[in-house]
Amino acid sequence: MSQPVLVIAEVRGGKLRQVSLEALQAARIARGEGADVQAVIVGSGITALAAELAGYVGGKVHAVDHPELASYNAPAYVQAVKGLLEELRPARIYLGHTAEGRDLAPQLAALLGAGQISDVISIGEGELYKRPVYAGKAFEEKRFLSGSGVVTVRPNNIPPAEPAAAPGEVVDRDYAPPADLRSIVRDVLRKAGGKVDLAEAKIVISGGRGVKSADGFKPLEELADVLGAAVGASRGACDAGYCDYALQIGQTGKVVTPEVYIACGISGAIQHLAGMSQSRVIIAINKDPEAPIFKVADYGIVGDLFDVVPLLTEEFRKVLA
Ligand code: FAD
Repeated sequence: MSQPVLVIAEVRGGKLRQVSLEALQAARIARGEGADVQAVIVGSGITALAAELAGYVGGKVHAVDHPELASYNAPAYVQAVKGLLEELRPARIYLGHTAEGRDLAPQLAALLGAGQISDVISIGEGELYKRPVYAGKAFEEKRFLSGSGVVTVRPNNIPPAEPAAAPGEVVDRDYAPPADLRSIVRDVLRKAGGKVDLAEAKIVISGGRGVKSADGFKPLEELADVLGAAVGASRGACDAGYCDYALQIGQTGKVVTPEVYIACGISGAIQHLAGMSQSRVIIAINKDPEAPIFKVADYGIVGDLFDVVPLLTEEFRKVLA
């Protein structure tokens, strides 16, 4: 029998992350419909989530449920899946290219003696993985030549898996904390963040230094509320103290690939473009017609964001009412 393929699902805020369903779909595209795709979910109090995931996998979902796994902690999570990896020796492992996935993937690759391809945005014939390089200025296509492989999938690029025809099955697995565990995450205190997860948002509205103050983000937040969008920022806005660094998009911030990216008062520095240039549709609002952001924008509005953004909010409110 062929070696199984394993998807590592991620839980956030008590929910299954959408990128985990995208990783599942990546596994299906890459390995074909006939592949033995299994998943593992790690956390605390995850019975219902494991059952939900099984509905998408249509095969085995291994659930490692323990109070000490409530928050991501690398050595504990590696320990949680180690036995399963040794037992299954999966041909491939798929994870989201998230903070957690980026941390866990190389450790699992080392455990398996596997290769790794990160930040995959699409998969072509013959299991050819496409990924951006040089901050999105070029792409490379890679494949594994032999042995096992670990793949991380960039959020919002591969469509999420649909529910499976078969019901799937949850297999509960034991967890014994490693004897040499040096730290335990007791709690995670999240900063007050937006209502919509920036990495997975379908629409992102970002403010730059052009918003001029923390209050200047208010019109953007109102538009985001109407559109169900997430709010992001340039480093210029973060450095100026207008917003939290958690919102920063770019080379040294988050990478987003929403369906629509609206840049308000952002000049379009190369380091910012590195985090958003793969968005499907880019709309730029800037009062300087020469601003470089217009070179990557699909639609550009030359104007004052404090005039334009409230007008958009008003119009969308009417349309979406
Ligand atoms: P500015 O460049 O000052 O642009 C402000 C824009 O707002 C201007 O185009 C102006 O015309 C417009 N504007 C002003 N008022 C209005 C108004 N009322 N209405 C409409 N438009 C208006 N930057 C990032 O964003 N992300 C990163 O991850 C990042 N990483 C970096 C890493 C390194 C190593 C370095 C060196 C830099 C990095 N930067 C990053 C910084 C980057 O080079 C730029 O300095 C930054 O993106 C500029 O932010 P900004 O566009 O908001 O500000």
